[in-house]
Order: sequence, then structure tokens, then C-alpha cells
Amino acid sequence: MNFYPLNQKIGIIGGGQLGKMMILEAKKLGCHITILDPVKDCPASSICDEHIVASFSDKNAIYSLAKKCDVITYEFEHIDYACLMELEQLGHKVYPTPSSLKIIQNKFTQKTVLKENNINVPNFYLVQTIEDVKNIAKEFSYPIVLKSCTGGYDGKGNYIIKCEEDIEKGFNTLNPNLDTPLMVEKFVDFDMEVSVLACGGLNNDIKVYPVGNNIHIDNILHKTIVPANISEESKQKAINIAHNIIDIFNGVGMFCVEFFVTKDGEVLVNEIAPRPHNSGHYTIEGCVTSQFENHIRAILGLPLGNTSLLNPTVMINLLGEEGHKGDALVEGLINALNIENVFVHIYGKKQTVAKRKMGHLTCSMQSLEQAEKNAIKAYNHIKFISKS
Ligand code: ADP
Repeated sequence: MNFYPLNQKIGIIGGGQLGKMMILEAKKLGCHITILDPVKDCPASSICDEHIVASFSDKNAIYSLAKKCDVITYEFEHIDYACLMELEQLGHKVYPTPSSLKIIQNKFTQKTVLKENNINVPNFYLVQTIEDVKNIAKEFSYPIVLKSCTGGYDGKGNYIIKCEEDIEKGFNTLNPNLDTPLMVEKFVDFDMEVSVLACGGLNNDIKVYPVGNNIHIDNILHKTIVPANISEESKQKAINIAHNIIDIFNGVGMFCVEFFVTKDGEVLVNEIAPRPHNSGHYTIEGCVTSQFENHIRAILGLPLGNTSLLNPTVMINLLGEEGHKGDALVEGLINALNIENVFVHIYGKKQTVAKRKMGHLTCSMQSLEQAEKNAIKAYNHIKFISKS
């Protein structure tokens, strides 16, 4: 017999754009979705079936989400893993597993596990005092990167230390209340940043997407270009590492692995995210199966879809315009959509703020050069501004 229950109930912790894009795919498979997010009009609220409006740290709310659902997933990694472990012990399904989340959400434990598994990472140490950093600097030489082990995003938990005088400032910036564990990393003089999305299925299947080149501005992802312009050898290394990482963490669902590629083609892991990722948005129009569809298939125990690239694809993030804050308006959408093969995604955030991720666009074409040209042209038309 090959019956599959209709109306599978999925709970998503987080109702931002990643949650919204998960729902769009889950709806194709007839699922019922409940989200948990403190913001009443968050992007996913417009298309979910139920919305528990509660703080992410509200354990009771997370418990009631679990009671309503067959499976729980999440769209960001800064969640109380212990609470998710308790749910798991009570027999609830939570994917990616809370044990993988526990290791990954702390950059020190994440890198320690990678190192133990012989995966190349920039050299690193846990630090407690300014003296510790001074000593490590003798080994690494400046610059070095001071990082919060937990809670960082868009580079907000990082501080580049260029000389001994910067150390105290770095400590005070990242750890003003002396309650955040810190680590120091060797600065990698990379040639390029790339990422590889990989998906683990409940049946132990592993699917890996092609390598994308990520370009950041002010530590925020600006553009992803796929395929990345690196050697076949470096590509294969990155793809093999992403595959291994799913194995190491018994990954269920989408994982994103971010890498530094050095001038001599060496590939080092920068970090892992146990969820669909901004640098995988290109997969919606660019690949046979999107990262969101594969994530949903994975957590439901369904077969994973083909991850091949259909055509070279460029994704550009659309951020809130500088100097604008308040009720959001989008300018230039018609001009952008008049450009061949351009797709615009608007997340539906009611308020714009400078640099807030408001949407993204993609262009997928046979010629990567043309795809990039069209994407940039469309990007130049679109602006998220405020009404007043
Ligand atoms: P977040 O978790 O906030 O995204 P990351 O640790 O990924 O922070 O770092 C953000 C950016 O900082 C990276 O994309 C990279 O450009 C730079 N960076 C981080 N670690 C290093 C390093 N060891 N060497 C050089 N640059 C780094």
C-alpha cells in the first residue's frame, strides 16, 4: 500500500520570509501550517492556516505548537534547543534534530565537530580574557576575527581585530555584559565566498545543490551567482564537504554550508545553518526542486527532489532603502518585471527600514552573463521606500 495521509500538520517556529517560502511549497503538498512568531503581521502570517502570536522564548507556546502539529521545523537557529529536545523526548518530531541544532548554534562547538571530522576550518580558539586573545595573536598574527559563539547574524557577532589596541574594544563590543562566550579565528584572506545547500532525507537520502558564489555588502548577502566561477576541483571539494556534513549531523532537512575559497583553491568551512538559507533562494527558479520544497519533503519523510541547476541563475537581495523608515512601498516593480526572465519576490513586510531584507529577485538564463545583466538592471529599478 502506498497511501500518504493528507493534510499533514507542520509547525514552523518563525514567520519571516523563509517560513513564508516554506509554506508556499508545503501548500502544494496539501499541508496545514501553523506558525509561531511574535509579530502579528509577519510575512508568513498572510498564508499560514494558524498563527500562534508568542515570543520565541515562550516555552508554553512552543508546546502548544507541537500539540497541534505532526512535525515541527524552524526558520532560524537561535532557538532554545533544550526545549526542542524535551519535545522530542515527549515523542514529537522536530527537524532538523535538536541535537544537530545544539552543536551548530554555537560556532565553537560547530567548528570543533567539523575539525574532529577532518573538515577544513579556519584555525580557532575559545577565549575568556583579553590576555587569551593577545597570546593567540602571537600565533595567528593580525588581523584576527573575534566572534560571539552564539547569536550572531549578518556579521553582527564579529569584530575584526587589526592590532593589540583593538582587543579591548572588540571585547567590550561583543561581550559588554560578560555573558557571551567568544572565540578567535584566524583571518582567511579568501578569494571568494561560496555556499552549498544540501538536504538530508529521513530515508538517509542526501541531495546536494550546485556551488553558488556569494557577494556580501556590509556583511549582508547582496548577490548569489550560480554556478560559482571556481575550479572544478574546488567545487567538488565543497560539494563533498556539504555531503559529509549531512552525514556527520544526521541532517534531516536543508542545511547551508558557507565556505571561503582561497587563491590556491583551498576550501574552508566558515559556518553551517541548519535550515533553508538566503543564498539558496536562487533554487526556486534556478533548480528542478527548490530548497524549500526539499526541506518540506525531507521533514515529512518524502523522497527528495532533483537538485540540478536548470540554467545559470543570479539572485539579488532587495533591502530597505537608506533614509527610509515606516510603511513600505515598492517602486519600479513594473519596469523590473518587464525584463526577460526576471522574477521578483516581495516578502510582505509592512514596515521598511534601511537594509532590512524586503524581497529578492532572480534571473535564470542560458547565458550567465546575460542573467547577471538582467538581474542588475531589474535591481536598479526596484526600491523599497517609506510612504512619508
Ligand atoms: P554571521 O554568522 O553573522 O553570518 P560569519 O561568521 O559568517 O557571521 O561572518 C560574516 C562575514 O565575515 C563572512 O561572510 C566573511 O566575509 C567574514 N568572516 C568571518 N569569518 C572570517 C574569517 N575567519 N576570515 C575572514 N573573514 C571572515
